[in-house]
Amino acid sequence: MTWNHRITAEGTPWRTRSWARTGVVLAVLASVTVGLTSGRDAIAAGAVQEKALKSAYKLLKLNGSLVKWGRPTLGSGAVVTYAFLEGPVRDSKARNCTAMTGFKTLSSRSGFTRQEIRSAARSAFKRWSNVADLQFRESASVEMANIVIGSQMIPRGYAFANVRQIESDVARGPVSFIGNEVGGERALNRVQPLEGVITTNSRRRSRPVSVIEKSAVCLNPVHDWKLGFDGNLKTYDLTHTFTHEIGHAIGLDHPARRGSLMHFKYTEARNGLSEGDIAGAVALYGPAR
Ligand SMILES: [Zn+2]
Repeated sequence: MTWNHRITAEGTPWRTRSWARTGVVLAVLASVTVGLTSGRDAIAAGAVQEKALKSAYKLLKLNGSLVKWGRPTLGSGAVVTYAFLEGPVRDSKARNCTAMTGFKTLSSRSGFTRQEIRSAARSAFKRWSNVADLQFRESASVEMANIVIGSQMIPRGYAFANVRQIESDVARGPVSFIGNEVGGERALNRVQPLEGVITTNSRRRSRPVSVIEKSAVCLNPVHDWKLGFDGNLKTYDLTHTFTHEIGHAIGLDHPARRGSLMHFKYTEARNGLSEGDIAGAVALYGPAR
């Protein structure tokens, strides 16, 4: 299933029960592996584990292409720059994070200083660079930065990411975007509709992997935010949220299976990346070096 569908099955909140179930499955897999003696069985069990891991992440697809930073080759590392907004910017082409500004409003409502918010975002970048061959460098230039981080000017949902692939890589139609909110009541995944513009290139096949041109991460300044988990699933942990949205910004989508940070439901069952999240980042960029 590709990402350009609207997710509607968000009625059931993520509860510990689901986690327990996942835990049981993993435990069974682990014990199967330990108990095996024959090589063929071990390979079979490995395949089962690999399959389980593959369903624990999902790579983002835009216009039929997987998207990543760096070279358009799966498993190749990348250096990615990011910048924090200081003032308002508007990206009329974006589906999400169209109008963003600096973190002044967010910090005044949640009581966090701008520095605390930035530090949470930096920790989130580090989570990804710790496991995959990604280097994130902070830039002072919002124009030049690959990923721009800021506060929404029109508050909506909790947090969103916008991902734009390089236009020359888009085989058909206009640039497309993913719209996501982390964990909330609603997840919106929709491709921008084709606008009927037929060019001479319109029959060109889409590439299997294309390069991201720019990503944005924006947080809703009206919501309360927190640092750390306290069991209250209505107030999101900033670091967790940044990690999720940065996950989109580097080319990951919501896996169908629960249990990972990239799942669209906010949960405090696990702090940090799951094996599935890591496998997804490694599939795109290779392991950390
Ligand atoms: Zn999301």
